[in-house]
Amino acid sequence: MSQAPNNILTSECHLHLYGCLAKETLWELSESRSKTHDKRFQWYLAEYEKATRQAINPKKWWDSDRGFDTFKNHFLCRESVPFEIFQAKFNLLIALFPPTPDDMTMPESVFKHHSKEGGYKEYRTFMPLYLAVPERKRYLQKLIETAASFETKAYHPRIAISFSRQDNEAWDNYAFLKDTLSECPDLAPWITGIDFCASERGHPPTEKRKLFHQILADNRDSPNPLEILYHVGEMWQDIAIHSAARWCVEASELGVKRLGHALALGMNAEAVSGRSISESTTETASHFAWLRRHRQVLHESGYTPIDYAWLERRAHMSSHNDQVTWHYDKDLIENTTKFQTAAMEIVRRIGSIIESCPTSNLRIGAIKNPVHHPLRRFLDHGLSVTIATDDPGIFDIDLKHEETLARNILGITSEELTHSHELTESLFTSLVERAKLLPRC
Ligand SMILES: [Zn+2]
Repeated sequence: MSQAPNNILTSECHLHLYGCLAKETLWELSESRSKTHDKRFQWYLAEYEKATRQAINPKKWWDSDRGFDTFKNHFLCRESVPFEIFQAKFNLLIALFPPTPDDMTMPESVFKHHSKEGGYKEYRTFMPLYLAVPERKRYLQKLIETAASFETKAYHPRIAISFSRQDNEAWDNYAFLKDTLSECPDLAPWITGIDFCASERGHPPTEKRKLFHQILADNRDSPNPLEILYHVGEMWQDIAIHSAARWCVEASELGVKRLGHALALGMNAEAVSGRSISESTTETASHFAWLRRHRQVLHESGYTPIDYAWLERRAHMSSHNDQVTWHYDKDLIENTTKFQTAAMEIVRRIGSIIESCPTSNLRIGAIKNPVHHPLRRFLDHGLSVTIATDDPGIFDIDLKHEETLARNILGITSEELTHSHELTESLFTSLVERAKLLPRC
């Protein structure tokens, strides 16, 4: 394995602003902020206890010599946990830093911390709909002003706006963003795109067909197009792996430029060997309808009508009431693997980029064993991949950590890391140039 120095990756385009806050800063601010935002803090404590069955006594954070250690045990996500536990930990950030234009403490701290590392960084964050529109506009302006104030020759912070997956809320988010950008066009060069995150459950990408169509149509007339970024195939445990992999391809076909994680597209299905996953018969029917529509391209990529017929027989055998329960034995794993290879080929031809966040996937993506992680397979298949830390604050990592993991555990070469780094930087270059041409908001 390579022992080269860890310094190739310096830029990343998949970060969540809140998840970047350093543990030291959060701990220092926690006592005073828990008092200012007592109701929200009590909500965090209650949700934490519900998810972990462990009650927190916050006095032990602040009144004990070992307080910081206790705090780190509660806040940091340093091992593989169910997503609900991660969310319960993350809630502390949500509780203590309600978005408001009058308080930039959290983003300021993140930008300051990262400005020492340098590089291009893209931070995703929500514009909460519960803020009245003028407040929300002011919040976005202040956030971008704050990011712009840290811009140097070596550090380029940019913002992507996270949208709710609820369709009506996503349309409201989009209307707000369009409106704000037409009123304040100098914000546009600082905004890279529109991100969809949070739970995928019940939200297939096809649900966003109309909205994506609208965004892409608007982009054609805009000097500052907004890329569509979409977390997909990360929560793959609730539907068949082939269905979750199909969601990744569907997102790509709908115009998503960057797929967040896309674990189901390339993970080794051996990860669920001997286990069963149930999905609705509607989901299974959608899968077969999609397979029929893509018969030709799938066949060319090695997923033949024989594989289709086998899967169909298995679905009939495994169907009960409104559910199909897929049992992952050797044959289903083989069928899934063939399908993933064909699905990756379609994504490769479309040209969507995969944002891979290995530590995040090993800790909250239910890929417990690194040998099942898809990064190696993505690269072997010629897909374009960027590497990022996702939530470096709460995971207590940095990009160097990801580079070491990629090299030493996932077998990624220096050449591949360099290629990934160049791809990441190329995503930002035009935006940085655009921002130079315009005055600050
Ligand atoms: Zn993410």
